[in-house]
Amino acid sequence: MGRLFAIEIIYRGIYQKTLAKNISRAIVLAAHREGKPGISFGRYGDSPERNGIPAKNFAIVATDDVTLEEGMAKYEPKEVDITIAVDDTLCKGVESWAWYGLQPVNRLLKPGGTLIVTSRENSDAIIAMSHRKEYPYQLAILKGIPSFSGLWVYKDDHTDVRILGMISKILPELFSLKSVQATIMDEWHDPVKSTSAAKSHEHTSPITVQPSQGNPEVPYKFDLPKWHEMGEGIAIPSIPAGHAVEDPATHAAGGYRPDRNPTFKKFSTRTMRPVVNFDTCIKCTLCWLQCPDSCFDVTQEGLYDANMQACCGCGVCEAVCPVKECVTMVNETEFKDNSSQWEAWRKDKQTYEAWLKDKIKSHGERSHGFRYKGQYEEQVPEMLEIAGKD
Ligand code: SF4
Ligand code: SF4
Repeated sequence: MGRLFAIEIIYRGIYQKTLAKNISRAIVLAAHREGKPGISFGRYGDSPERNGIPAKNFAIVATDDVTLEEGMAKYEPKEVDITIAVDDTLCKGVESWAWYGLQPVNRLLKPGGTLIVTSRENSDAIIAMSHRKEYPYQLAILKGIPSFSGLWVYKDDHTDVRILGMISKILPELFSLKSVQATIMDEWHDPVKSTSAAKSHEHTSPITVQPSQGNPEVPYKFDLPKWHEMGEGIAIPSIPAGHAVEDPATHAAGGYRPDRNPTFKKFSTRTMRPVVNFDTCIKCTLCWLQCPDSCFDVTQEGLYDANMQACCGCGVCEAVCPVKECVTMVNETEFKDNSSQWEAWRKDKQTYEAWLKDKIKSHGERSHGFRYKGQYEEQVPEMLEIAGKD
């Protein structure tokens, strides 16, 4: 029996689909140059994808055909040599269509396997977000923002080839840098991309993450209903009388919190979340009306609290709010929980104000979304400069 290699790429549905496909395809092509057969595929359960939903691509390679066939007899790999997360906020966990509950980003890693993350954060921040594992694994960070390379109008920032260069350093038995560079020239005909891969290869130095390090929380999960617990046909119960006038969660008069999917949470769907300045809110209702995911709980005093179990991080509320700096999108890496901002504000307004300022100020600008036309085009040269320093 020969050796089987498995690599998964976890990405944000739609936005990073082409990027993930380019990476998994090039892995197979580079391995093929060294006589190893392989296959690259997307996870069936992740289709149809939605914007931002964590989704997966796999690259499976073997030293011979029989080993590959044996490996492919499984629906999808149970363990992988390398996990690649092309958005660092995915380190908080992955909840896709194909999974019930929250899956740790490092869940499939073999003992001693490597987690590659694209991030501007340092290793401490990445480890703090990632759930603990029972055995040590390696962490390698590729400095950069979550790339949109390959998404319609967005430009190439070399994230794909920089990751390929890293893999050739981390798992040289899979393929060499030489094979990566030959594949790049065949696929992209670009010597600059080939140089980016070489620089990334040279500067890759993973660190070991011990079982005592990382997020100690038990990931959120739920049990699927048994056949005898399911309702007859598809029946959606109507809202019981009285719910329109009292808060269904607290049963207090005034305020309103819509019923939500009790099992599919969206903790892992977003890269950003809104923070709200309740002191400047004019109660215009626009965020509540426009939020595509009905996230806003109406509070008893008529304020709007973005519920973090429901928010997918689209940024619409920030865009529609008419009050300057009342709603601000902040990168998800800044937060450690999903608790109610309104409850924190109600408890201690001064502490909340300081918290709010800290969250917004920590990134210098008001938003991590694109604030003006051409912003991405400005970011790409910056990314290429980082690639040059790899
Ligand atoms: S970012 Fe705002 S508009 Fe978008 S889902 Fe979250 S709360 Fe709703
Ligand atoms: S859009 Fe802004 S001002 Fe209007 S209710 Fe929402 S947070 Fe308040």
